[in-house]
Amino acid sequence: QLSKRLQRIAAYVPKGSKTADIGSDHAYLPCYLCLEDQTAKAIAGEVNEGPYLSAVSQVRQSGLTDRISVRMGNGLEVIEHADQVNVITIAGMGGALITSILEDGKDKLKEVDRLILQPNVSAITIREWLDREGWSLASEEIIEEDDKIYEILVADRGENVMLYEEDRKKKMLLGPYLINEMNEAFQKKWTYEMKNWERILTQFERATETPELSAKKDELKHKIKMVQEVLR
Ligand code: SAM
Repeated sequence: QLSKRLQRIAAYVPKGSKTADIGSDHAYLPCYLCLEDQTAKAIAGEVNEGPYLSAVSQVRQSGLTDRISVRMGNGLEVIEHADQVNVITIAGMGGALITSILEDGKDKLKEVDRLILQPNVSAITIREWLDREGWSLASEEIIEEDDKIYEILVADRGENVMLYEEDRKKKMLLGPYLINEMNEAFQKKWTYEMKNWERILTQFERATETPELSAKKDELKHKIKMVQEVLR
C-alpha cells in the first residue's frame, strides 16, 4: 500500500505522462504510476547507490523494467532530451535541496510542463523559486500522515503574477491555496511553528541587544504576526 503522501503526489500526474522521479529511493512512486496507468512511463533517478539498488529491484519485482528506467546520477542530470519527460516529481527532501536540484538542472526543464514537489520543510524557498522562474502554482495540498505534516506543491508553466500581488510574503510563506483552505493539518503546522518562534523570541528578549539580534527579532515578530492574522 503506497503512502497517502505519495498517492496524493501521484494524483497530480496526468495520464500518459513520462515522469522523472528524482530522489526516488525505492521507486515506489514511479512503480505506482505505471501500475495504475498502462500508458505511463517513468525514470527513477537516484544519487546514492543503496537507494538506486532498491529502485532497480523494486522495478524488476513489479515487472516494469520496460517502462521504468532506473538511473544513477545527481538531480536532473539523469534526464536526457530524448526521454521527452513532461512531469518531474521531487519528494521527501528539504525545500532548499529541491530548489537547488531544479536550479542546477534548469536546462532540463525546457520541455517539462509540470513540477510536483513535496518539501519536508521550507516550502517558501520553492514558492519563491517558482515565482522567479516563471512557473505558476497550480495547486497545493497539506496533509498529515503518521504524525507528520507534508506540503505538496504543483506548478505548471506560465506566470501567475496576480497570485502574489497582495500579501505576497504571507502567501509565499504559507501558500496561497493552503491559506484559503485552512484545513486541520495547516492549522496544526502553523500553530506549532508560531509557538516555536515565540519560544525563540522569548530567549532573544533575554539576550544582550545587538543590531543583528534586533533584526532577527523583527523578522520573527513579523512572521508571528503574519501567521496570527491567518489563523485568527
Ligand atoms: N522520493 C522518495 C519519497 O518521497 O518517499 C524518497 C525520499 S528520500 C527521503 C530522499 C532521496 O533522495 C534519498 O534516497 C536520496 O538518496 C535522494 N537524493 C538526495 N539528493 C539527491 C540528488 N541531488 N539527486 C538525486 N537523488 C537525491
